[in-house]
Amino acid sequence: MTDNRQLTTICMVQLPDRIGRLEELAHDVSWSWTRDARKLFRTLDYPLWRQTAHNPVRMLKLIPPEPLQRVASDAAWLATYDRVMARLDDVRSARNTWCATEYGDLASRSIAYFSAEFALHQSLPIYAGGLGVLAGDHCKEASDLGVPLIGVGFMYPQGYFHQDVTTDGWQQEAYERLDWTDAPIEPALTPDGKPCVTAVPLGNRTVLAAVWRVRVGRVKLYLLDTDLEENAPWDRELSARLYGGDRETRVQQEIILGIGGVRVLKAMGCEPAVYHLNEGHAGFVVLQRIRDFCEKGWTFEAALDEVRRTTVFTTHTPVAAGHDAFPFALVETHLAGAWGDLGGYREKFLALGHHDNGGGPMFNMTALALRAAGAVNGVSQLHGEVTKQMWQSIWPGTPYEKLPVKAITNGVHVPTWMSSEIAALLETHLGADWLDRHDDPALCDRVLEIPDEELWAARQALRAFLFSFIRERARQRWTNEGASAPRIVAAGTMFDQFALTIGFARRMTGYKRPELIFSDPDRLARILNQPGRNVQILFAGKAHPADDVGKHHLQRIYKRALDPKFGGRIAFVDDYDLHVAHFLVQGCDVWMNNPLKPLEASGTSGMKAAINGTPHMSIGDGWWAEGFNGDNGWLIDAQADPNDPGAQDWADAQAMYTLLEQQLVPAFYDRDAHGIPRRWLRIVKQSIRTVLPRFAARRMVKDYVREMYAPAARQPATK
Ligand SMILES: *Cc1c(COP(=O)(O)O)cnc(C)c1O
Repeated sequence: MTDNRQLTTICMVQLPDRIGRLEELAHDVSWSWTRDARKLFRTLDYPLWRQTAHNPVRMLKLIPPEPLQRVASDAAWLATYDRVMARLDDVRSARNTWCATEYGDLASRSIAYFSAEFALHQSLPIYAGGLGVLAGDHCKEASDLGVPLIGVGFMYPQGYFHQDVTTDGWQQEAYERLDWTDAPIEPALTPDGKPCVTAVPLGNRTVLAAVWRVRVGRVKLYLLDTDLEENAPWDRELSARLYGGDRETRVQQEIILGIGGVRVLKAMGCEPAVYHLNEGHAGFVVLQRIRDFCEKGWTFEAALDEVRRTTVFTTHTPVAAGHDAFPFALVETHLAGAWGDLGGYREKFLALGHHDNGGGPMFNMTALALRAAGAVNGVSQLHGEVTKQMWQSIWPGTPYEKLPVKAITNGVHVPTWMSSEIAALLETHLGADWLDRHDDPALCDRVLEIPDEELWAARQALRAFLFSFIRERARQRWTNEGASAPRIVAAGTMFDQFALTIGFARRMTGYKRPELIFSDPDRLARILNQPGRNVQILFAGKAHPADDVGKHHLQRIYKRALDPKFGGRIAFVDDYDLHVAHFLVQGCDVWMNNPLKPLEASGTSGMKAAINGTPHMSIGDGWWAEGFNGDNGWLIDAQADPNDPGAQDWADAQAMYTLLEQQLVPAFYDRDAHGIPRRWLRIVKQSIRTVLPRFAARRMVKDYVREMYAPAARQPATK
């Protein structure tokens, strides 16, 4: 039965009429956070579901007719199908959403949300990491709350890279061309029914961008793609890869996103009330908008005022390299065709991006966005302050307390990241409507009522799923790719399913200090190998393709995984993406985070872990500076000479070892007569109780509506 089902076969199957809308469901990523919809696809053909990494679009392409016929006459399956379809219609049409109730004026308008990456599902690889996950979670929650968001981004035909690791531990990047019939995307049609194609002036030529549409429940996403036959070969490549090119490719991509994005919205008949720039990449939005006003006869100043009134900007990192800056000449070259009637104001526009970060004046995309947005926010309370200190010079003469920078702490989309096991417990003990009210702290207090036995059973099951995933992945590498024995060992095949498991999954980059835990290898080895109380650490994460320092971190971790001194209790899981992230944040026992403070703006993986009962052990940076309350996880808190970064590393590592030896290991391994770690579960419950309501995307999106969108959408009193 399976021999005609190689992953390369394409056999478009005719759906039985009774389940004819399955294709439509597969093309709305809201299926991915709807439990019953996931169940429909999983039970349709479980082996194929696993084989395609939970990609229903691809599943429906590969599936033979038999399972379709089977479910089309299975009463229980059909009942679920009908419920899911009714809900889908409801989601798309409902008027009684939170936004409609609380902010009726806003609900009938639209908010354009620009981002260079969106992480919605592993089947749509147009994200690299945290920024994309945040954007994806923002869109999903906006759909749940009825916030009228329209996302604008890129369809990168080659996406971000897949990570492969050599026997020697060196990262190899593999770019795969996405077959668009495998992804939940469709050509976007303009109001008159034609495929949307937009012309973007670039230098002295014009580049065409095709537009794809992604449905995210109530929210729509428009993705620009320059891979059109009409374009020159080098222009077709412009949107090929996320963060794959040089400075010149980057500035051109940003012009297409900003200027092309505004034009796409116009072509699609959208008139946003608010423009949200998620990070500075989309800063050129303001150029196109000022230009549009100038063409209607406005002065530059009046146009800028109006743009400012309706633009909000979120900045995401205190790391200087995270803020794109280009030489003025480069920007001028590529903007040559974009000025229109704005041409006479060229100097004024370029001045908006002026910033000198020590290496001479550059055109800085963050400076542009800061000067052109009426409301700016950092992504945690601490990062709000750090942003003010970092960018104070943008607002000369404004006292520090009056700087126009707010803080809205990030959050994670709960239905996306919460495991079914924990969700089932919440349903039983908090009530069937817990998800509708999950940002209510009083409701979440009832997590403390969950019986230890039930919670422990769920935690053990989640760890078991993680190990089954790791072993299956190693098996595939071994059988399909002929991976060497060391790679199979490094992949975690010797891990103990019942041992205390620490997770560390994040981009391999300097400030995240991926190797900090190895500062004193002998002390670490004693912690890992203590008989009967073993500890194991799972690493995952990609290094940026151009970051050799990051790749060396990864290589040394890989070598540690093969060092017998650590007893096979260190592992590296390759190709970290949304799919891997789900298993890791749900299945580990502790989530470790040790950045160099204050360089982690927020971090979100720790929130995903914490709501699943995987408590956070972290430096008091980013969200943890406000999230830690003394008993919902652990704070790595060490004093060291601030002028000696080496001293801080050593002190932080010592603090981690002490926490592990004195607190984590005893709490996890001290069991009562029934084998239950009572003390551990107290921390697990506090973790879920405190993090679920406050660090949910629900709280975050409500904050954005209240503090940023609603004020920006308000019409000025006199005009
Ligand atoms: C959540 C997530 C991130 C961001 O995590 P941080 O804690 O900000 O490092 C990155 N990549 C993937 C795949 C994720 O799921």
